[in-house]
Amino acid sequence: MTKLPDHAHYVIIGAGIHGLSTAMHLAQGLKARGKSVGEGGTRIMVLDKTGIGAGASGIACGVVRNNYYQPAMRELMAHSVSVWERDPEAYSYHPVGYMQISPEVMHAQVGTIYEQQKAIGYESVFVEGEAESMRYMKGIFHDWQARNITSVLHEKRGGYANNMASMRGLAGKAKTLGVEIVPDVTVTGFRSGNGSTAISAVETSAGAVRCDEVVVGAGPWINSIWNMLALPKTISVKGRDGKVHEGVRMWHYMALQEGTLGVDPEYQKTNDGRMPPVIHVDTDAPLRSDRDGHLITDKLWGLYYKPDFHFGGVQGGAMPAVVTPDPDDVRVDPYGPKSPEFVVTDNFADMWTSALAFCQQRFEGQHPKYKSEPSGGIGCFTPDSFPVFDRFRENVYVIADSNHGFKMIGVGELVAAELLGEKRALLEPFRFARYAAGRLHPVSNSPFPWS
Ligand SMILES: Cc1cc2nc3c(=O)[nH]c(=O)nc-3n(C[C@H](O)[C@H](O)[C@H](O)COP(=O)(O)OP(=O)(O)OC[C@H]3O[C@@H](n4cnc5c(N)ncnc54)[C@H](O)[C@@H]3O)c2cc1C
Repeated sequence: MTKLPDHAHYVIIGAGIHGLSTAMHLAQGLKARGKSVGEGGTRIMVLDKTGIGAGASGIACGVVRNNYYQPAMRELMAHSVSVWERDPEAYSYHPVGYMQISPEVMHAQVGTIYEQQKAIGYESVFVEGEAESMRYMKGIFHDWQARNITSVLHEKRGGYANNMASMRGLAGKAKTLGVEIVPDVTVTGFRSGNGSTAISAVETSAGAVRCDEVVVGAGPWINSIWNMLALPKTISVKGRDGKVHEGVRMWHYMALQEGTLGVDPEYQKTNDGRMPPVIHVDTDAPLRSDRDGHLITDKLWGLYYKPDFHFGGVQGGAMPAVVTPDPDDVRVDPYGPKSPEFVVTDNFADMWTSALAFCQQRFEGQHPKYKSEPSGGIGCFTPDSFPVFDRFRENVYVIADSNHGFKMIGVGELVAAELLGEKRALLEPFRFARYAAGRLHPVSNSPFPWS
């Protein structure tokens, strides 16, 4: 059985993108301050009930983009993209760019994203008008045919990273700096004492560890850790209408729908033979089945896709599905493709392969190549579907990304700075107090809860 030390200065729960990035940057920050990290020095322990990348980070599609309607999200993402760019090889990051291809209902909002990208120096091209958008897209893919598109935002930075390879890269860097990553240890509770709400020890399946600071990077398991910390199940939210809504559930779940078309990834190359940007299309044109022609939807819908050697085909997804049970009753384990409940269905396969064919002629009639293997996974969302990065119980730093987060590799750097006493303005718009104060992020017209 794993033997844990009696004490660690920092106990980090979860070896996903946030736990590992925080640990690595914390170790870097301590070393820069002349401190040694590891046994005999400052101990940073990352505990995971399974192992590195066992949660959402290990199954994420891996898309890295700036495209957000909320200014605070965009600035945060620009910082994270710069962290991905620091070591593309170690993080298995592919800077192919990202395209947001939109219908008229999103035109003006995407235009503001472009203006603000210019203002923060994030390189992108904005194409407006139906004919111009078609011409631009055909210049990249000769077979482009998506309809009801009136703007294209082409981000020249961003792209995607290979989920597990990125996790291994981060973990390797963290270990080299003296971080201890311990698999197969489940956090089961917390201790506090002496009349303080601060956590004095973390209880685990391998015994208790006294600690000075706790960092929670538990991804879809945040609801259970939140309950262990006795934090409120319901909160007050001052809405955009100025009214206070009482009793809003702090967490809710959604199921992410993703899959892979088993074609050669090279099949999706651009006209000039290069690997293409990640494509995200939203449209209000009716979607018909590429299989039998039936109407799938005549409401606003969207999809994203990229060729990916790691997934072995063209991989991507569509809008998430609502998970209805009370969050305390949602069975998060077994997670991801191993879940008997939260994997995608044939309906998704039909919708997504039809959406691919809607966008590019080369995908017409390709639906039999859809890989019928379990895929997808659930994410845990906050009341406004944007992250919470904040301190609770005095010494517990919660990183709850509301499922935006594989791309947010930089959040760990910002959190590490705050743990070392330096406030970071980029994190301020994501404090918990925003709900009671009504400082909510603006909502976009996108059919996705994370745009
Ligand atoms: C199918 C899918 C596709 C996605 N695609 C993208 C994408 O393309 N781009 C993007 O930016 N984001 C994407 N996301 C979202 C992104 O994956 C998550 O927001 C992010 O990975 C969360 O990282 P994390 O470190 O918070 O949690 P996780 O990666 O989930 O890590 C949490 C870890 O905590 C451990 N843990 C949980 N409870 C305990 C406990 N009690 N004791 C010890 N350990 C515990 C788990 O074992 C797990 O390893 C996707 C999500 C899903 C589900």
